[in-house]
Amino acid sequence: MWFRGDIAIQGDTIVRVAPSIEGVARRTIDAGGRVVSPGFIDIHTHARRGINQVPTADNYTRQGVTTVIEGPDGSSPLPLRPFLDALAQLRTSVNIGAFVGQGSVRSEVMGDVNRKATPEEIGRMTALMETAMRDGALGISTGLFYVPGTFTPTDEVIALAKVAAKYGGMHESHQRDDASKVLDSVRETIAIGEGGGLPTQVSHAKVVGTANFGKSKEMLALIDAARARGVDVTLDQYPYTASSTSVAAALLPAWALEGTRADQLARLKDPAQRARIKSDSIAMIRDERGGGDAKNVQFASCGFDPSLAGKTLADLTRQRGLEPTIPNAADTTMWLVEQGGCQGIFHAMSEDDLVRILKHPATMIASDGEVPIFGRANPHPRSYGTFARVLGRYVRDEHVLTLEEAVRKMTSFPAARLGFTDRGVLRPGMKADIAIFDPATVRDTATFTAPHQYAEGFFAVLVNGQVIFENGAMTPARPGQILYGRGRR
Ligand SMILES: [Zn+2]
Repeated sequence: MWFRGDIAIQGDTIVRVAPSIEGVARRTIDAGGRVVSPGFIDIHTHARRGINQVPTADNYTRQGVTTVIEGPDGSSPLPLRPFLDALAQLRTSVNIGAFVGQGSVRSEVMGDVNRKATPEEIGRMTALMETAMRDGALGISTGLFYVPGTFTPTDEVIALAKVAAKYGGMHESHQRDDASKVLDSVRETIAIGEGGGLPTQVSHAKVVGTANFGKSKEMLALIDAARARGVDVTLDQYPYTASSTSVAAALLPAWALEGTRADQLARLKDPAQRARIKSDSIAMIRDERGGGDAKNVQFASCGFDPSLAGKTLADLTRQRGLEPTIPNAADTTMWLVEQGGCQGIFHAMSEDDLVRILKHPATMIASDGEVPIFGRANPHPRSYGTFARVLGRYVRDEHVLTLEEAVRKMTSFPAARLGFTDRGVLRPGMKADIAIFDPATVRDTATFTAPHQYAEGFFAVLVNGQVIFENGAMTPARPGQILYGRGRR
């Protein structure tokens, strides 16, 4: 529960929390009647997209985020140590930690091939996992939806999850299927936790495709049942009914993406295979991330034609002289993958499922965002708005969550999950990561058509005792630390 009080900070640490603290300080911040919260910990980000260009990660810090976690969806830099060392050199405003990606490990040993691993290959993957955990990974992430994760049998994932478990790490999953097979995918995420002997998490929990709307009920029932029998399974979620990933991964079948880019292009050139890819793509646009209509697919960025950012698959299909029917949109999808591909935004989820998942006590908040270059391309607004949106829309305006519950989902809950014993709550001895905001005005302003807009209502943000944001602007301080997992040697 909230209470009115003062906080004393010495160096990077909170030394006292009390109703009133007398004495002289080098600097005093008068928070007025605002909320003083632990800084938000974003357990699922793609911050390596952009952090080198924007080490201040303004989109995150301006909504109270003080820690971002990388290496999601089965994808991380390998080896991890040079990546973390480079981030330490870079000096970021926010703290950063990372998972090791199962897909990256598999790709390193086997390439992006569709077959089972040999025992010898599993041995090599296990060794890479050991190294990553000793380098300070927080656990193992999987992206079983993506190539090459999708080619991985569950027992192979479990073999690697056991290594993460040995070093006190957790597992987080971008599930194999968030659409018609979403419940099987939840069962698999639970099985990885159970078989691997480690905490497991459904990342960016969602239900995709109109035919599947409502399945969050069964999804959460599976979570509750697993928890009741002792499996430590949790979820995270971003508060939007659209997802974002590459158009190829979302709208073409995984088998079409096996191997190298040359392999993919050869498949698209072969008339028989192209026809099969098209028919699978039609189903994916109709029933899955396409949301049943080409206008529900929006381009975030296209390397081969930056002017497409913000336009829809329907727009591009028309631009190519075709009616925006689903079969024509599938043709356009194959064409744009041949051109080099795009990142997309996919409007294919329901608000009812979103709210049901958000309310669940085992769900924490995570953006799944990146560090955008301000003004460039048309990224998903979650990068700018996730935390402010939960506090504004779902706490203040719609009363879906209490303020305290929302703050828990952004702070102490992910901190405990990641094994951060010195962050996530305001208490003497904890690192002074703090977000100060006005609960009456906090809101997200980034939209799907105008995403480059910072959140509003934040008064000041501190990381490791230093003010990184105040008076509506970033300060020169860059006090972010690398946060390592318990297995670090
Ligand atoms: Zn993901």
